[in-house]
Amino acid sequence: MKIAVVGAGLCGLKAARELAEFAEIRVFEPHDVGGLVASWGEGFSIEKFYHHCFRDDRFLIDEIRNCGLKSKLVWKIAKTGFAVDGRIYPLNTPFEILRYPYMSLVDKIKLAKFTIKSRRMNYEDFDDVGVIEGIRKELGENLLEKFFMPLLRSKFGENAEEVSYAWLLGRVAIRSNRKFAGEEIGYIRHGFHQLIEKMREGLDIVRERAKIKRAKKWDVNGESFDAVVFTAPLPELGELKERLGLPEIKYQSSICALVGAKRSLTDDIYWVNIADEMSFGAIIEHTNFMPIEDYGIHLIYLASYSTPEGWLFSMSDDEIAKLFVGDLRKLGMDEKDVRWIRIFRAKYSGPIYEKGYARKITPYKVADGFYIAGMTSKPNYPERSMNGSIRAGLEVAEEVKKDLL
Ligand SMILES: Cc1cc2nc3c(=O)[nH]c(=O)nc-3n(C[C@H](O)[C@H](O)[C@H](O)COP(=O)(O)OP(=O)(O)OC[C@H]3O[C@@H](n4cnc5c(N)ncnc54)[C@H](O)[C@@H]3O)c2cc1C
Repeated sequence: MKIAVVGAGLCGLKAARELAEFAEIRVFEPHDVGGLVASWGEGFSIEKFYHHCFRDDRFLIDEIRNCGLKSKLVWKIAKTGFAVDGRIYPLNTPFEILRYPYMSLVDKIKLAKFTIKSRRMNYEDFDDVGVIEGIRKELGENLLEKFFMPLLRSKFGENAEEVSYAWLLGRVAIRSNRKFAGEEIGYIRHGFHQLIEKMREGLDIVRERAKIKRAKKWDVNGESFDAVVFTAPLPELGELKERLGLPEIKYQSSICALVGAKRSLTDDIYWVNIADEMSFGAIIEHTNFMPIEDYGIHLIYLASYSTPEGWLFSMSDDEIAKLFVGDLRKLGMDEKDVRWIRIFRAKYSGPIYEKGYARKITPYKVADGFYIAGMTSKPNYPERSMNGSIRAGLEVAEEVKKDLL
C-alpha cells in the first residue's frame, strides 16, 4: 500500500506519522517543512509567524509529550494591551481595565459579561449571523466601533464585514484562559522547530510541489499511489478541486515582519492590538514572553493580514519593511533602534470564516482513495490552530486506516 501525503505542515506530518507503520508513505512539500509553523534564524530559531498554544490544546500537547518535549513546554501569563492615539495601554488586571480611558464603565461591564456568556453559547448556532450584526445587537455601537472594528480589520482586512459571529464566539470561548493578571499561554522554550524536527524524523519527504492526477489509481508527480492525503490549501488542487466538488473557500494571507530591535517596544506587554490606522494590526513582542537571553536581541513581530489579491500582499519586502518601520515611529520606535527586519508572508494563511462557512467544512474522504485534511477540516472550525491541524491529521489517518488497511 502506497500513500502520498501532500504538504508537510503539522497536519501532513501528523497524518504521515500515523500511517507510516502501515503503509509506504511519501510526503510532498515544496517549501519549508512545518508549513505555517516553520522557523527561521541565525544563531537561534524563531517561528516566521508568531506562535503560542493554549491549555485546552489537548492534541498538540499530546504530540509535544510523544515527541519528548513536554518538559520544554512553558506556561506563562502573557500581557496584552491596546494602542490608541500612539500610546500603548496595558489591559490585563481589572485595575488596568478600569483605568483604560477609551471605554465607559458600562461598556467595560458589558464586555466582561459577554466574555463569560460567550463560553456558554453554542457558537455553531451563529454561523449564519454576521459578526458586525451580532456584536451590535449584543454589545452596542460604541463597543463595535471603538473596540471590535479595529480588531476585525486587523485580522480580516477588507473581509471583516463578511465574517460570521460564530468565529468571534468560538474564539472567545475556546481561547480565553484568563487568570487575574491576564491570559495564560504556552510555548516550547527555544522554539516549535523542535517539535517539527521530531515529527519529521524517519519520514520520506520529497521537496516537490505535488501535481495530482486521477489515473487508474492516483498519480502524484508521475508516481502511482493507492491513496492521497491532501493537507495543502485547496486552491493548490487546481482543476481537480471542481472535479471533486469542493467548495469555494476564501483564504486570508499573512504578512509578518520580524524585527530584531535594540530595545523593547511595548515594555512588558506580549500582545498589543492596534486601534490606530497603521499598516500592521498587532505587535507581538516575543521577548516579552520568552527570555531575551535565548536570542540576544529583542524580537518583535508586526502582524498584518491581507488577501492573496490585497494591496499589501502585492508589495515587495523592501516596500513593506519601509512602511512598517515608518509606522513604528508613531509608537516611539526610531529607525536606529531597528537592527534588522525580515518580512515573511503566507499566501494561504487561513480560511476566512465568513457567514455560512460551517457548510463548507471539508469531510476527510472526498473520493475513493482521496482524503483532505487541514485548515478546512472540522477541528479547525471556527478558528484554525496548531491543535486543530494535528487533530485533523490524526483523524484523517484513522479514516484511511478504516477504509484501506
Ligand atoms: C500569522 C499566524 C500566526 C499563527 N499563530 C498561531 C498560534 O499562535 N497558535 C496556533 O495554534 N496556531 C497559530 N496559527 C495557525 C497554525 O499555524 C495553523 O493552523 C497550522 O500550522 C496549519 O497547519 P496545516 O498543516 O493544516 O497547514 P500548513 O501549515 O499551511 O501546511 C500545508 C503545507 O502544504 C504545503 N503545500 C502547499 N501547496 C503544496 C503542493 N502543491 N504540494 C505539496 N505541498 C504543498 C505548504 O507549503 C505547507 O507546508 C498561526 C498562523 C499564522 C499564519
